[in-house]
Amino acid sequence: MAFRATILTLYPEMFPGPLGVSLAGKALERGDWALETLQIRDFGRGRHRAVDDTPAGGGAGMVMRADVVADAIDAASTAGDTRPRLMMSPRGRPLTQAFVRDLAAGEGAVILCGRFEGVDERVIEARGLTEVSVGDYVLSGGEMAALVMLDAVVRLLPGVMGNQLSGTHESFEGGLLEHPHYTRPAEWEGRTIPEVLTSGDHGAVERWRTAEARRITRERRPDLVGAPRHEP
Ligand code: SAH
Repeated sequence: MAFRATILTLYPEMFPGPLGVSLAGKALERGDWALETLQIRDFGRGRHRAVDDTPAGGGAGMVMRADVVADAIDAASTAGDTRPRLMMSPRGRPLTQAFVRDLAAGEGAVILCGRFEGVDERVIEARGLTEVSVGDYVLSGGEMAALVMLDAVVRLLPGVMGNQLSGTHESFEGGLLEHPHYTRPAEWEGRTIPEVLTSGDHGAVERWRTAEARRITRERRPDLVGAPRHEP
C-alpha cells in the first residue's frame, strides 16, 4: 500500500502546497503517495468551533484544547491504523535522514500541526504523539515543518526520483556531508574542474569524492564525524 499522510491542521489550504509540484507533485498525481487533510476546526467546541483556550497558570497566547485535538486524531487514525502519530514541535526529536528513511519504509503518518503556543500536554501523552522538530528555531505553525518532513520522505519513496540515483553519496548517508559537484562548462570565470573528475579513472574519482566529503564534514559539521553510520 502506498505511503499515506494525514495532516491535522487549521490551515488545510497549505497542502499539498509545494508538494503539489515537481517530483513530489507528479508522484502524488500518480498515486505513489497520498495526502489528506483534516480541518481541526471541524472538531471545535461551541457555536464558534473554538479549538483553543487560555493557558492554565496564565501567560501569553493560547493553547490548543486536548478534547478537540483528540477528536481530530481519533477521526484520522481509527482502530487498526498502525501509522505513527507525529506532532510537529520545536521540543521534538530532531528530524534526521535516518528517521526520514524509517518513515518512508512505513505505511505513512498522522501528523498534527500545532498553532498558537502549542498543544495541551495531556493529548500528546494520551494519544502517544511523537514530537518531531525540524530545527532549533520557532515557526508560527507546524504546517511548514510537516511539509519539510514530507518532502524529505516522499523523494525516497519507490518510483518518485525516477532514474535519478537516490544517491548512496548523498549528505548524511554514511554519516558524511556530500562532496562538491561540477558540470560543464569545463572552464568558467577562469575556474576549472578538478582534473581527477575528467580523468576517466573511476577509482580515483571515488577516492577524491570520499576525501572531499570527509574534509567538508570535518570543517563544517565536526559533530557528524564519528556519529553512528546509518546502515541501509
Ligand atoms: N511555544 C512553543 C512554540 C509554538 S510555535 C515553544 O516555545 O516551544 C507553534 C507551533 O509551530 C508548534 O506547536 C509546532 O507545531 C510548530 N513549530 C514551531 N517550531 C517548530 C519546529 N522547529 N519544528 C517543528 N514544529 C515547529
